[in-house]
Amino acid sequence: MTERDKILAYTETYRRKTGTNFSTVPGVKEAVIEGLIHHLETLKKPLCPCNFYPDKNKEIEHRRWLCPCNEMQIYKYCHCLLYVGENNLPITEHLPQDHEGRLSYGLNKDPHPELGRDLRHKTDDDLSDWHK
Ligand code: SF4
Repeated sequence: MTERDKILAYTETYRRKTGTNFSTVPGVKEAVIEGLIHHLETLKKPLCPCNFYPDKNKEIEHRRWLCPCNEMQIYKYCHCLLYVGENNLPITEHLPQDHEGRLSYGLNKDPHPELGRDLRHKTDDDLSDWHK
């Protein structure tokens, strides 16, 4: 199985498991998936492609931004807009009120709150040194 096949398979599985949609905005899904494939091929890990990292290898050790990232697993919020809710908008319902996603997009409900969020009992702070 190629790295491309792995990313395509796991993103589709994760999308279903979380009850989310892939963005249908032209180019969004494709760009994020290509970024994940590139990181899996070059770094051996699916580092989120939508951030700037001063040191990608250090970031991988930290694990916070390995897809699905902490924010996705806690809040079901995908700032890359790969996994979205209704109308191609990110799910923001579970975010803290002062989170930038909530401030940028307002309140967007989770159509399937019973699915996903395996780390819903955690906060981002709890996970700041997760896996160290
Ligand atoms: S924001 Fe999180 S869930 Fe979305 S693509 Fe990046 S790492 Fe994956």
